[in-house]
Amino acid sequence: MSFQVFGTAVSRGVAIGRAVLVASSRLDVAHYFVDEAQVPVEVARCHAARDQVAEELTLLRDQLPPDAPAELAALLDVHLMLVRDEALVDAAVDWVRERHYNAEWALSAQLEVLARQFDEMEDEYLRERKADLEQVVERMLSVLARQADPTLGLAPRDFAGEDPLLLVAADISPADLLGFRDGVFKGFITDIGGKTSHTAIVARSMDIPAVVGTREASRLIRQDDWVVIDGDAGAVIVNPSPIVLEEYRFRQRQSELERARLARLRHTPAVTLDGEAVQMHANIELPGDAKAALAAGAEGVGLFRSEFLFMGRGGQLPSEEEQYEAYREAVEAMQGRPVTIRTVDIGADKPLDRAPAGDGRYDHVLNPALGLRAIRWSLSEPAMFRQQLRAIYRASAHGPVRLLLPMVAHMKELRQVRDCITRVRQQLVDNQQPTGQVELGVMIEIPAAALILDALLPLVDFVSIGTNDLIQYTLAIDRADESVAHLYDPWHPAVMQLLATVIGACRARGKGVSVCGEMAGDVAFTDALLAMGLRSFSMHPSQIAFVKQRILRADASKLAAQLPQLLGDEDPERVAKRLGWA
Ligand code: PEP
Ligand code: MG
Repeated sequence: MSFQVFGTAVSRGVAIGRAVLVASSRLDVAHYFVDEAQVPVEVARCHAARDQVAEELTLLRDQLPPDAPAELAALLDVHLMLVRDEALVDAAVDWVRERHYNAEWALSAQLEVLARQFDEMEDEYLRERKADLEQVVERMLSVLARQADPTLGLAPRDFAGEDPLLLVAADISPADLLGFRDGVFKGFITDIGGKTSHTAIVARSMDIPAVVGTREASRLIRQDDWVVIDGDAGAVIVNPSPIVLEEYRFRQRQSELERARLARLRHTPAVTLDGEAVQMHANIELPGDAKAALAAGAEGVGLFRSEFLFMGRGGQLPSEEEQYEAYREAVEAMQGRPVTIRTVDIGADKPLDRAPAGDGRYDHVLNPALGLRAIRWSLSEPAMFRQQLRAIYRASAHGPVRLLLPMVAHMKELRQVRDCITRVRQQLVDNQQPTGQVELGVMIEIPAAALILDALLPLVDFVSIGTNDLIQYTLAIDRADESVAHLYDPWHPAVMQLLATVIGACRARGKGVSVCGEMAGDVAFTDALLAMGLRSFSMHPSQIAFVKQRILRADASKLAAQLPQLLGDEDPERVAKRLGWA
């Protein structure tokens, strides 16, 4: 049966493929394709995991003390029955043979199928056996993890000729999504999340169509369903009719052609019709992304979200050396262009590590977006912070580096950071470690920072406006919460006023100002930002060509003359549409 689910469009384009349902708790299970020759090995691994778990369970049952409750033996029998049931392992083996999934992926895919069947059972006793099935599969997965072949690695491989796969999950953390960067999935759908949640941001950086905040896609879509993701409209079409499918295949081809056409703008300077030069910078998450930034024609990195080096490592922080190597890699890859490294912005929807179920390490924080996040966290961990600063300063010996501080709200935070920098620089001099010039900047992403800009500016070289958070904190809307996503409004007059004021004040004082939030990469806002005087944009590499095309067609002085109309209206979006900006 064909049906549609709607959510928030976060990453454009059309993806067509088979649904792969992955439970959020099993996202860290290795997902990769195996080649033909490896299929029998993976099949054998499935069988071996089954046999070993069956053996362990039999042993446990046989060794139960005589006074053990009778239910315990019965429970172990149920587990034994489940592990031997052909609906589990034989069906998982089919995933390996037909789809070339690795054993872990095949087992978890089959678990999703069976779990759904359990959910639909009328009988409560049988419905509750789902938890037993999950426990049995967890056991098998841990057996597989112990015998994983390290030479295979976890990197997904290309398996030409297969249907594209689309990830469907209730939720995906940004760190988990990064793990899928190597291209197993060609699109993804989640039940929760908003347009500027960090998971959505990572999806955009992967340049794959995505829809978030669908609320129930992971419940309605079944393993292996044919699915179309319309990343422009925020729609998901499940089991589309042949006519609908053909229409989307046509749109997919059109958008590929459009991309190929825009790619030709790569090395064209971004200059408006009236001769205003605009800098186009890239946002990156990992040093390896710098290559894509250069390939897209970026003139520098406007935002390196360094927290991605810290996430998904079981809470273990990267050493100074490891960070230095990562920053150096990005600096060298940019070949003399500036690299803006933002100090770690851990917290809110970017936890250091996924909290194990029930652990509550993060849940106990009442309002994580208002809690110990970003610069607050760094200043509360001074040794860790100095380590990061040292690594950044050392990387500056290899090319121009700019240091950016996230979530500054107080003058005292900026003063504390400057003290740390003085200390760190002295340490580096004492150790005879070379450094280059490093410019210091703050992010303006809390309204308080925008309001004390006059005091902040003399202490910094540049500012970067983080519109994702600036909107979140100005409107008191959690950017990751789909239930208030309709109120997350970049066009809100308060947001427009703040942006125009900050950009104007920086220009008046001769300080560099750029926007590195998602607005910078959205062509709907390009004209408005140009009108406000913005001449430096930072966005995901895949968005650069789209925004550049818009800039090439813009007349900056004409836009600036129209700005008062936008700022003077209670509905700036309506004005922007009337003026043909959005
Ligand atoms: C922002 O808030 O706009 C920003 C660029 O930072 P992040 O999205 O990482 O919070
Ligand atoms: Mg931010």
